[in-house]
Amino acid sequence: MTEKKDYYEILGVDRNASQEEIKRAYRRLAKKYHPDLNKSDKDAEERFKEISEAYEVLSDPDKRANYDRFGHAGVDFGPGGFDWSKFTRYSDIEDIFGDFFKDFFGFGGGGRGIFGDLFRVAEERYPERGRDIVYDLEIELEDAAKGIEKEIEVRKEEICPDCKGTGASGSGLKTCPACGGTGQVKHVQRRGFAQFVSITTCSRCGGRGKVVEEPCSACNGRGRIRVNRRLSVRIPPGVDTGSRLRIPGEGEAGEWGGPPGDLYLIIRVREHEIFRRDGRDLYCDVPVRFAQVVLGAEVEVPTIYGDKVKLRIPPGTQSGTAFRFRNLGMPDLKGHGRGSLFARVNVVIPKKLSKRQKELLMEFDKEERDSSARDGYHQPFWRRRKI
Ligand SMILES: [Zn+2]
Ligand SMILES: [Zn+2]
Repeated sequence: MTEKKDYYEILGVDRNASQEEIKRAYRRLAKKYHPDLNKSDKDAEERFKEISEAYEVLSDPDKRANYDRFGHAGVDFGPGGFDWSKFTRYSDIEDIFGDFFKDFFGFGGGGRGIFGDLFRVAEERYPERGRDIVYDLEIELEDAAKGIEKEIEVRKEEICPDCKGTGASGSGLKTCPACGGTGQVKHVQRRGFAQFVSITTCSRCGGRGKVVEEPCSACNGRGRIRVNRRLSVRIPPGVDTGSRLRIPGEGEAGEWGGPPGDLYLIIRVREHEIFRRDGRDLYCDVPVRFAQVVLGAEVEVPTIYGDKVKLRIPPGTQSGTAFRFRNLGMPDLKGHGRGSLFARVNVVIPKKLSKRQKELLMEFDKEERDSSARDGYHQPFWRRRKI
């Protein structure tokens, strides 16, 4: 980057120039180098940018004072640099100078048009809503099924109770001496037929109109403090991982009297030892013995609600068969009933057998072989036709 030119030099004025002289120099140069009067002249455009930037700073007493003390470092236009885009986009020169002389800033039109930046109009301090807080909450599947009341601790900004958010202690706030409490500083200058009014946010009080005489010791004058707030939250039945619950008004405190933000709970449901979840349905494996599926049996199946249901396994049930229990799945978050519980019968093959079990099983197998042969099941399974 090349060294930035001195603003006074750019406008061709003395360091002690009055506001009047600066304005005169600016107007003369702005007319001379305005891009619309110098179409396709790159140099003129550059000059116009320089002039505009120099004027933006030197026409503002606060900015000028900073510039005098610290040079370019004292004037920060933010990461994007000086915003001159409004200047070149405005193509109708009549409008520009017409408006310029019409003193339209005087009745609150500032901020629009080419000289919105030159005559920076005070930004008003609107009440600002506090920020939202996001809180990750992990719960058990049982809690998701039944709903639960949880106590959580949230770290957040709240209005300082000592100073009620004013930031002042003792005598409280006093009217800003710089602006008389209006929060704005108005500079009026007359020059021939035109009147120039610039309204800027009071730099002393930042637009509040009041200043802190003695800062509150609890919050160091910030008006807000960080606290750990415990609160009880109700988790409705049916939530799932990723569910987002909004708790209005439990976010950070607002600014300038604005409302607080909201608290968002992001739910994560832990994996369950027995149940797998798929939307509103639950799945579980029911381990059974060989004889139970062959002969038929009645077994108990646990539910996510803590009780048990009876599962009647009919004789001859194949391993892997799932039985459905309606209404024993997860509840719907909006209250539209519950899903199903699928209990899948899973035959457990014993790995160790006693001598007696072995004998019985071999005898059983021989019997089965004989009856298979009798029924035509002697062929390998890939050759069998339906019998
Ligand atoms: Zn305080
Ligand atoms: Zn003030």
